[in-house]
Amino acid sequence: MYNVVIIGSGCAGLTAAIYAARANLNPLVIDGHEPGGQLSLTTHVENFPGFPDGILGPELIEKMRQQAQRFGAEFKAGAVNEVDLRQRPFRINAGKDKYETQALIVAAGASARLLGLKGERELIGHGVSTCATCDGYFFREKPIAVVGGGDSAMEESNFLSRYASKVHLIHRRNEFRASKIMIDRVRKNEKVEFLTPFVVEEILAPKGLVEGVRVRNTETKEEREIPADGVFVAIGHNPNTTVFKGKLEMDANGYLVAKHGSLTSVPGVFVAGDVQDHRYRQAVTAAGSGCMAAMDAEKFLEEHKH
Ligand code: NAP
Repeated sequence: MYNVVIIGSGCAGLTAAIYAARANLNPLVIDGHEPGGQLSLTTHVENFPGFPDGILGPELIEKMRQQAQRFGAEFKAGAVNEVDLRQRPFRINAGKDKYETQALIVAAGASARLLGLKGERELIGHGVSTCATCDGYFFREKPIAVVGGGDSAMEESNFLSRYASKVHLIHRRNEFRASKIMIDRVRKNEKVEFLTPFVVEEILAPKGLVEGVRVRNTETKEEREIPADGVFVAIGHNPNTTVFKGKLEMDANGYLVAKHGSLTSVPGVFVAGDVQDHRYRQAVTAAGSGCMAAMDAEKFLEEHKH
């Protein structure tokens, strides 16, 4: 029986673990299918306060993990496949392992959708990115490509045009899912060139660093190579919330709904990080919300002492 179980070991989960451990709650962190979360898939992080020279994503996450362990947080590998939140203690299954806990913090994150191209995942941090805010700065005066046709692709194209010498916005259809106002804003941006209806066939990185993309027109079948030092994949995110369907309140896109900080529709269950945030999605905001969830869980346990 645990006081607090934390699902997810990204920035939000680990910060919650540090706070819960320092509150003597002996939390258990269940790693999840992507231990370390999205930071573990990136290279340089230059916007996390406290590291004036930047830090590598995996190193930052490892330091957070060590910090949580130092105060007594326990870690278990595995991904949660079932939860019973009908009564306390809550029951959690991760494969063959079963846990019971008085409070639960869900910090399961959201996974950026990828195109599914060969080498794409391995090139994250070497030219492929799923976060313009995080990585735009690395592409000053360089040509880049943005893939997608939703609001994220529009917003990122505009944002990236501040740095890049040229932005190629590649979308698979001639129509856009993005709102008209966002499309209009990008159309007025002289640095952005629209390429539709084009799909990316290959990310070109002969030396291990992205140099461009090969694209194909879905109507004419014409193929082209576009020079780009960065490829920003902006085709949406999937929150990791399947096991909570029907158990915790979600929005239309499957993100968990947080109220008054980290509270969910079930008392004793708290939420932190990208699993409840499709707006900011930053390491520092995830860390902040992990702190909030741990403090809310601590307060809840104090109020529900037997
Ligand atoms: P989205 O609206 O789901 O759009 C995803 C885009 O990626 C679509 O254009 C889709 O093409 C394309 N796509 C999906 N899978 C693809 C694949 N395998 N290959 C190529 N293209 C693919 O996602 P989003 O843009 O991240 O937005 C998510 C939510 O956040 C939306 O509700 C959006 O309005 C909101 N948002 C709002 C703002 C803002 O208002 N400032 C900013 C960002 C996001 P198809 O259209 O052909 O399916």
